[in-house]
Amino acid sequence: MALPPLVEPAAELSVDEIRRYSRHLIIPDVGMDGQKRLKNAKVLAVGAGGLGSPTLLYLAAAGVGTLGIIDFDTVDESNLQRQIIHGVSDVGTPKAESAARSIAEVNPLVNVVIHNTALDRDNVKEIFSQYDLIVDGTDNFATRYMVNDAAVLLGKPYVWGSIYRFDGQASVFWEEHGPCYRCLYPEPPPPGMVPSCAEGGVLGVLCASIGSIQVNEAIKLITGIGEPLVGRLMVYDALEMEYRKIKVRKDPNCALCGENPTVTDLLEDYEDFCGAVSDEAQEAVHGSTITVRELKDWQDSGKDIFLADVREPAEWEINRIPGAVLIPKGEILSGEALSKFPQDKQIVLHCKSGVRSAEALAALKAAGFKDAVHVQGGIVSWVNTIDPSLPSY
Ligand SMILES: [Zn+2]
Repeated sequence: MALPPLVEPAAELSVDEIRRYSRHLIIPDVGMDGQKRLKNAKVLAVGAGGLGSPTLLYLAAAGVGTLGIIDFDTVDESNLQRQIIHGVSDVGTPKAESAARSIAEVNPLVNVVIHNTALDRDNVKEIFSQYDLIVDGTDNFATRYMVNDAAVLLGKPYVWGSIYRFDGQASVFWEEHGPCYRCLYPEPPPPGMVPSCAEGGVLGVLCASIGSIQVNEAIKLITGIGEPLVGRLMVYDALEMEYRKIKVRKDPNCALCGENPTVTDLLEDYEDFCGAVSDEAQEAVHGSTITVRELKDWQDSGKDIFLADVREPAEWEINRIPGAVLIPKGEILSGEALSKFPQDKQIVLHCKSGVRSAEALAALKAAGFKDAVHVQGGIVSWVNTIDPSLPSY
């Protein structure tokens, strides 16, 4: 289904612009008219991370007139494996500012608007309303649902992408012409089931594969050419080198864009909706949580503890807390590893950030280890507080 162009053309291109965009101008489908529409377009990138890096660079190079960047994070060394808009000298600076500098280098004709803040329910509508199109490169479900809800409520189209290890997905959600993200995924996955990129890893170049699809779709929407990915989900498998397109229909029962919507405004709390940890885990950690400082004190005082690291073997290879043994969460949840836990020692669980260890703690307590505890903030907190010489990830 072809759609009309999203953006009206600008009055004219300057001589500089005509020179710069000549390889676009000689494509009949883009031409002067398409390039003028790109010049007039206002696009917001949500996140200047893995997906935001290639999308911002290519949108800038393509001549999108106004590019908004919203990101509250700062550049970390572990970002550089995939977030190619940032460099070594940017480590420690806000991502939005670092991205703006790179864009100015690629194309100084782009008007860059920096939103150095976290997107939240109080600012999302006001920020989105300044743009024609949103490109969503967020890495967490809470923000993803909020982006979708705000876009639907404002009637804005947005290009969505997601990446994990070797797998990527992309689509265009535009309530007026097709399904929304909630039609495809009515509910977030159960807490603790889907690790983030920080916990599960992502092949760096996957960002370029999915980010380039997002830019491609953005250009098509702005200029009104081709068949946009509205109502279709692109699924990419980098290991099999396979792209599949799956039809996605508007769900008449969608809570947001269905016939009898139950969600008529932004939710009060998206974190709550997506749940960082399950109810069982929340109950298990209550009164059974220690800090890394307490763990260190226990170790130093010679307390008889059994410290289990419930992360995955690959993470264990990167860093570990002295004295810990590796028992991945899955083996605890399946019951397979329960016999490894001693009855006569204080059991302490930790993971990367404290989410998986909370889930494992719930399973251990249910299996009778009532005194077990877990470590708040996991090994990330250990590295930050106790031993900064350990590598982080
Ligand atoms: Zn929907």
